[in-house]
Amino acid sequence: EQSLEGKTALVTAAANGIGRASAEALVNRGATVIATDIDAAAIRSVAEGTQNIEGHALDVLDTDAIAALIGSLPPLQILVNCAGWVHDGTILDCEDADWDRAFNLNSKSLYQVTKAVLPGMLTHGSGSIVNIASIVSSEKGVPRRFVYGASKAAIIGMTKSIAADYVQSGIRCNAICPGTVESPSLKDRLKATGDFDKAHSAFTARQPMGRFGTPDEIAEMVCYLAGDMSAFTTGQAFAIDGGWSI
Ligand code: NAD
Repeated sequence: EQSLEGKTALVTAAANGIGRASAEALVNRGATVIATDIDAAAIRSVAEGTQNIEGHALDVLDTDAIAALIGSLPPLQILVNCAGWVHDGTILDCEDADWDRAFNLNSKSLYQVTKAVLPGMLTHGSGSIVNIASIVSSEKGVPRRFVYGASKAAIIGMTKSIAADYVQSGIRCNAICPGTVESPSLKDRLKATGDFDKAHSAFTARQPMGRFGTPDEIAEMVCYLAGDMSAFTTGQAFAIDGGWSI
């Protein structure tokens, strides 16, 4: 297992699900973690009692707040962009407000947080950026995921573009494309269908392995991409999807 000792990581949307598991896994490998989330109380409780995790409220849609927080931090070696939102629907169900929310939260926030963090990484000539995209993106078309898939595909495009621009400056940028992963928001989406059990079976059936992934399984890849064991890897999108995209 690689050590992340001496590295400081910022994780967005770290109060639940993949972000939380990633923050905890990074700390377990020795990193100092700045865990951020829009839910101030929840992020405080993630940080409470764990050494080397600092919890900060951060709404990734708030550009001023991004600048203020990152300006107050020491240089970061690792950035994990995890904030995201699922719109359920086809192109005909997608209103302008849905389009804006999906692209603002899934794509624009990543651009803004990364733009704020990158100059510090460049000053020190090293950094690893890990973006949580989705297999539902340019990797795979899925029913009723029109604007979600489009805005997650943008993450893969940004990942490759950032990787290409900074490959000679010591900065790496990779994306992870999860399949269906157990998380509070997944539970909410299943409940919102009106028949939790039926939706649970249907979502499970999409996964050839017959189960959902766990946030910890995604966090393992986050740690690998964050650390020096993956030093020869940049600009890639890694699927962890229980075989959904085979
Ligand atoms: P989740 O959706 O259950 O939790 C998301 C967290 O994001 C919450 O703590 C919430 O408070 C926070 N958040 C919401 N709006 C925010 C904002 N404006 N600023 C900062 N934080 C905000 O967690 P999850 O399901 O693990 O999803 C995390 C990421 O993984 C998302 O980008 C999602 O699209 C992606 N993903 C999830 C799955 C899945 O099946 N769960 C699959 C593929 C990709």
